[in-house]
Amino acid sequence: MQLSRYRARTSRIGHIFISHLHGDHYFGLIGLLNTFSLVGRKNALTLYGPPGLNDVLIAQFRASQAVLGFPIHFVELRATEPNTIFEDAQLSVTAFPVQHRIACWGFLFREKPKPRRINKDIMPADLSVKDIIALKNSQDVVNADNSIRYRNEKYTLPPRKSRSYAYCADTRYFELLAEWVKGVDLLYHESTFMDQERELAEQRYHSTTLQAATIAKQAEVDTLLIGHFSSRYRDLSPLLEEAKTVFDNTSLAIEGQDFTIPE
Ligand SMILES: [Zn+2]
Ligand SMILES: [Zn+2]
Repeated sequence: MQLSRYRARTSRIGHIFISHLHGDHYFGLIGLLNTFSLVGRKNALTLYGPPGLNDVLIAQFRASQAVLGFPIHFVELRATEPNTIFEDAQLSVTAFPVQHRIACWGFLFREKPKPRRINKDIMPADLSVKDIIALKNSQDVVNADNSIRYRNEKYTLPPRKSRSYAYCADTRYFELLAEWVKGVDLLYHESTFMDQERELAEQRYHSTTLQAATIAKQAEVDTLLIGHFSSRYRDLSPLLEEAKTVFDNTSLAIEGQDFTIPE
């Protein structure tokens, strides 16, 4: 319902990452999969999730005698160290275990290094496809006698930035996390409580504003997004202000809002 409210193009969703099996993190999944099928989806979907997720889904589909019109590939998360769970030419995704009451993983999305860009303003008219590929791969375009025809630095611009985003799911504070998400552009870290509830956060395997901000600071990230606020807080601005005392470039993760990482 929220995806359609925010006009997300769900046909473009090929992979879904589920951090853990607390209801606030996956109870919507069965409805989403069912809707995909109802609207005629045929493309395969890959689901990444903790052991047990597959069984829950199969039980639900069996009980409702639902037959999905598209295949689901299930990738079970098990690793106790960060490990790559998806990779293609543009992107890699690493799952890393966090510390929650039940098994839980965060996900780090990292773009691969990008090719150089042809400077269209001065692009010679006689470039072949092969020449363009050579230029994008930092090579010069050469003549038959190997002399340089078009020098790479002159005709190309530096690659666009490879962006990174880490989603840390639900977790209590632990220092090692900062190493695993070192230097990312955008860090999502939960801040269930204000810092005066530090003890409660620890007991419930959640974090406070200052703990989230400390991870962001230690990891030297660019931007911090905090979220997963306890329902006790009607006004979220004190949470934001408190986090900012440690890490200034912090925003509230408000549902429906877009956050763009500049290239
Ligand atoms: Zn949880
Ligand atoms: Zn949660």
